[in-house]
Amino acid sequence: MSGADEGRRAELAANLAAVRERIALACSDAGRAPEEVHLVVVTKFFPRSDLDLLADLGVRDIGENREQEASAKLADGGTPPGVRTHYIGQLQSKKAGAVARWADVVQSVDRPKVIAALDRGASAAGRELTVLVQVDLDADAAEHRGGAAPRDVLALADEVARSDSLRLGGLMAVAPLGEDPSPPFARLAELSGALRETHPQATWVSAGMSADLEAAVRHGATHLRVGTAILGTRASHG
Ligand SMILES: *Cc1c(COP(=O)(O)O)cnc(C)c1O
Repeated sequence: MSGADEGRRAELAANLAAVRERIALACSDAGRAPEEVHLVVVTKFFPRSDLDLLADLGVRDIGENREQEASAKLADGGTPPGVRTHYIGQLQSKKAGAVARWADVVQSVDRPKVIAALDRGASAAGRELTVLVQVDLDADAAEHRGGAAPRDVLALADEVARSDSLRLGGLMAVAPLGEDPSPPFARLAELSGALRETHPQATWVSAGMSADLEAAVRHGATHLRVGTAILGTRASHG
């Protein structure tokens, strides 16, 4: 390993340890078992070499938000062994077939057209994908970051559950910018409860990022999507 690689490995290891410590503390404050909360490390903007270092450091789930960037990184040597790949970006139906070839989990499904396209893509590739319905938690329409309106979520979930090659995992959301994330995360938890009445196996709640993972854990998140706190900011790594 070159000196630069060793330096990067040490940096990622230290950041990962700090994030795992934050998660452990948040779980203990919330009275939750740490095994209930999974860390998805978001590697968008960062090179393939970081994926390999993270896999070597024991990371089992990585997240990407742009189809072309992810495909290029994963084509170069395949998915690191033992790693599950999550697509977390906005998804157009014309890109769904490509995503279905490499993603194990698609967290950002918010339209019937995308469900149909992913199902076709997964069936054609002979794969089964876990799908989360993304919920728009932004009550006022100022800045939407993707996701279905809460009133549409249960119907979309039914549609995923009826498909051939998609398994309904649960819900995903991004907290609205610039406000206390707790009320929106509480609304997400409530919606997850309603979903589990008809789909008891759809237990995943993907919420919480670098800045708000503690609030997400407090409100029942099962999956956290953490980028910056582990990989750093994009500017410092080109
Ligand atoms: C980039 C991204 C994250 C990670 O955000 P950080 O603030 O860097 O931890 C999480 N979720 C989605 C949907 C993202 O696009």
